Amino acid sequence: MATHTNVNLVPGGVSSTGRAYTIPLPANWSQDSTTERSKQSESAGTSGRQFRFGIISDVQYANIDDGLSYSKVPRYYRASRNGLARAVSAWREQQVEWAIHLGDLVDGFQPRDESEAALDMLLAEFDRLQRPHWHVLANHDLYNFPREVLNRRLGLNTGQPEGCSYYHWSPHPQWRIVVLDAYDVSVWGWPPEDNRHKEALKILERYNPNEDKNNPSGLEGPARRFVQFNGGASATQLGWLRATLADIAAKGQRAIVCCHVALHPETAVGHCLLWNYQEVLDELQSSNVVVATFAGHAHCDGQQRDHAGIHHRVLNAIIETPPDRDCYGWVDVFPDRLELTGVGELQSSTMSFAA
Ligand SMILES: [Zn+2]
Repeated sequence: MATHTNVNLVPGGVSSTGRAYTIPLPANWSQDSTTERSKQSESAGTSGRQFRFGIISDVQYANIDDGLSYSKVPRYYRASRNGLARAVSAWREQQVEWAIHLGDLVDGFQPRDESEAALDMLLAEFDRLQRPHWHVLANHDLYNFPREVLNRRLGLNTGQPEGCSYYHWSPHPQWRIVVLDAYDVSVWGWPPEDNRHKEALKILERYNPNEDKNNPSGLEGPARRFVQFNGGASATQLGWLRATLADIAAKGQRAIVCCHVALHPETAVGHCLLWNYQEVLDELQSSNVVVATFAGHAHCDGQQRDHAGIHHRVLNAIIETPPDRDCYGWVDVFPDRLELTGVGELQSSTMSFAA
């Protein structure tokens, strides 16, 4: 994303990265340290676990010197690659079955003539896992590459019509992972004559009064989402989502939904939300099959459980994690809960649901 956000979890505190905490700690939030959680896992065992996957967000690597975000938060552009490497090593040790990165692999500041080499290097790092790794379409990647390149290199349209960057797969007979495209309606990734590009321009013109459409100044709360570094889900994608969730329900499965941009207004500041997040939430909530969503983009942890019981989790970013700290995790999936073990700057949490 283009700006840093001061969303975090514990009221009144300051994290080890110096960020202000502004979002209250949810009642079901676990504050276990990784060590405590590991001990807990050992004692409780992993009995009943259906699968384990690795999770990480916003590597945002660039071959440039460290810098500052729009909000003056340090960004460690080269070190983020090392943070990814440590995550992959830990996932191997933890024997995750697969891993997912929630988007923004290569930063928009990466010199364009080195973008391809950066992508090669980062994907080679993921390949060390020797297990499947999945990716999510995101703005910084679209600054670097055409959509068709990302679809091909990141496997974003598995089994879907050409051009789409949303997809789903089943990691377990009782589960489906649904990956959304937050830039389906966007000025990024489509040629200017494409209707999805034109629709995005109209939305920005209508809801953002600033000349620079990356600037949310003058907008308040969730209305700040109408900036150019965000996007929305098209009616076509919403229809696909509805049909996919109906198929998941028909097969008696459950779903975990991933999207680069935040889907719930209480998990991230306004300018990190999907333009039509409510339309997506309506589909998820009425489906009765979604237990959790995961997003990145906001560069801070956030979590909220909605009225339908769905847990919405936003993940802290490697790019703003000091080089001597980690920021990744893994999720153990059980029939009645997800256990996210966060390492370093990534908070752990337990997401319970009716078995
Ligand atoms: Zn982003």
